[in-house]
Amino acid sequence: MKTDIKSLYYPELEKFITDGGFPRFRAKQVYGWLNRGALSFDEMGNIPKNLREFLNSSSYISVANIEKKLVSRYDKTVKYLFRLNDGEFVETVVMSYKHGYSICVSTQVGCKMGCTFCATGKSGFSRSLTASEILAQIESAGRDLGVRISNIVLMGMGEPLDNFDNVIRFLKIVSCEDGLNIGMRHITLSTCGIVPRIYDLAEYNFALTLSVSLHAPDNETRSKTMPINNKYPIEQLIKACRDYFDKTGRRISFEYAMIDGVNDTDECARKLSSLLGNLNCHVNLIPVNTVRGSGYKKSRLDRQRAFIDILEKNSVTATVRRTLGSDIDASCGQLKRNYTEKTGG
Ligand code: SAH
Ligand code: SF4
Repeated sequence: MKTDIKSLYYPELEKFITDGGFPRFRAKQVYGWLNRGALSFDEMGNIPKNLREFLNSSSYISVANIEKKLVSRYDKTVKYLFRLNDGEFVETVVMSYKHGYSICVSTQVGCKMGCTFCATGKSGFSRSLTASEILAQIESAGRDLGVRISNIVLMGMGEPLDNFDNVIRFLKIVSCEDGLNIGMRHITLSTCGIVPRIYDLAEYNFALTLSVSLHAPDNETRSKTMPINNKYPIEQLIKACRDYFDKTGRRISFEYAMIDGVNDTDECARKLSSLLGNLNCHVNLIPVNTVRGSGYKKSRLDRQRAFIDILEKNSVTATVRRTLGSDIDASCGQLKRNYTEKTGG
């Protein structure tokens, strides 16, 4: 099996090259090329031919080739369908804000978690991405748009904490000064709530933002839409969030997709307020994106307002998130689903 060279930390790359019989300083040169986004070993001008041959025969560079690109007419949001080295597809969305460009990357091809409102959850699981494949999405999008991407959210296809080791590797590599140098404070990792992995993540003490997809204030409601809740019920999840905050000092954010008639009643808002009561957190309310076959509709505007009012009265800070790219299937999982269903892929 060939080595996935862009998933290596620098000391590992150095070992790989010196074990191949080449001097240590060559590793630095190769590392420089890789960090400048080289797509092949053949373009590495100052690398001798025998080293290039060695690299070609024993390793590969992960790519994310643009298969499809959609640009929103409303807000410049760009959505990519990328093709990976083995022909699998993942989705990536780039949003432009006043403070810069933010990218939503995928961490798996599909997802095992099966949330009923989610397009990715509905299309099954194929495999996890390597660190370099998560990185390649950022490099490809940045290159295509000719911009520096400054913020990352791990909110595309897949469950990041179900691909723990590769995601940790990605986080360390992407925040490295020699590389893309996107600091942890500019990274948000979103999870459906795999409790033991939240504790594992806390041990790293990263300055990233942990975002927890809560979507319901009690077990009965949550288990209806999120099967993971049967394994790690709300009490355990909230305890893990408290412990995460105590360990890292980082405020948790909670995602709450508002679904008409499912989780948007006044009672839900009151339960959510007491659940999050004295936890240092922020709630993002997102009117659910309708996914074909789910039967869910977004909450009415008056419900959204009433819900947030109750939270605010109970001192829970919350905002209703703007929907970007609504004309381009910008909710992850939708583009791939439409594309592969149309092409039979
Ligand atoms: N697996 C992770 C990260 C990817 S999903 C997680 O679940 O957190 C990113 C976010 O999009 C999650 O908060 C998820 O619940 C939300 N989401 C998925 N489908 C959605 C939909 N149809 N409408 C609104 N939000 C959705
Ligand atoms: Fe997976 Fe997240 Fe979608 Fe749930 S919401 S199916 S965890 S990608």
